[in-house]
Amino acid sequence: MRKTGFIYSPVYLKHNTGNHPENLNRLIAILRCVEKEKLKETLINISPLRATVEQISWIHTKEYINSIEQACKTCSEQGSPHYRMNLDADTVISGDSYNVALFAAGGVIAGVDAVFKAKVDNVFCAVRPPGHHAEMDRAMGFCIFNNIAIGAAYAQKIYKINKIFIVDWDLHHGNGTQHTFYNDPAVFYTSIHQQNLFPGTGMTDEIGEGEGRGFTMNLPLPAGQGDKEYISIFKERICPQIIRYRPDLIMLSAGFDTHRNDPLGSMKVTSEGFGKLTDIICSLADKTCQGRIVSVLEGGYDLEGLAESVVFHLKCLIGEKL
Ligand SMILES: [Zn+2]
Repeated sequence: MRKTGFIYSPVYLKHNTGNHPENLNRLIAILRCVEKEKLKETLINISPLRATVEQISWIHTKEYINSIEQACKTCSEQGSPHYRMNLDADTVISGDSYNVALFAAGGVIAGVDAVFKAKVDNVFCAVRPPGHHAEMDRAMGFCIFNNIAIGAAYAQKIYKINKIFIVDWDLHHGNGTQHTFYNDPAVFYTSIHQQNLFPGTGMTDEIGEGEGRGFTMNLPLPAGQGDKEYISIFKERICPQIIRYRPDLIMLSAGFDTHRNDPLGSMKVTSEGFGKLTDIICSLADKTCQGRIVSVLEGGYDLEGLAESVVFHLKCLIGEKL
């Protein structure tokens, strides 16, 4: 059995998006299911840190960070916690969103700390807003700051980690994460996603640039793929890359919007399927990086499917047999 951390704070519920698909009920559903399955006692609960502006500026421009702070201030000045503004067609903020986004990035930072201080073997960061679409200077696709990219930069700077392998299994391509590390051979980024969907990037010929050439791998898939197809692509395409790369840390952009009931996608992965994918990643982490995994919540919009899938993910991180 492994020691698995669980990062969460009620502050994450304060990013008020109304009846947007990315809303606070996602985390409430996850917490309920974790409690129902009596995982609370097994997991090591860890509070997130509040990321500093300096840490966020490793990935984002100061102008962009300021603009988010200002936009949230403008929302607060309207006097209602329900006042919201759109940053783009589908990214919404409320007065507290800047603070919450700092805690979301800081959740991943706390996860990296927990793993490298050997408090846990692996960790799941139940954070929101999600992050993998956020670009250097712009919010996108429900994301404000790129939580996983900030966590990876933190591992590089603070723990001098030489090689990080990011697996992004969210339904959507993680354009922000890819662009952040496109020239960086110290981070291998791979994304498996539904093709011809938002954000439109993630083609197979996007493989990195300069020194980073060959350290980005995109695996776009047609709609309708389920457990069997995902498992075989993990085994045939992703596992050999991880073994070849020999990372010091594996990070997961764990989106659960490939679930068969998800309203935003057309994939057919089951809740248990996420457990099987987790097992595959865990066994590679055991082989290459002493089991170190920092898993970060991204999408997943069917509340029941999301919560069940996260429970399977957690059980397999802990090392329970399916
Ligand atoms: Zn997604």
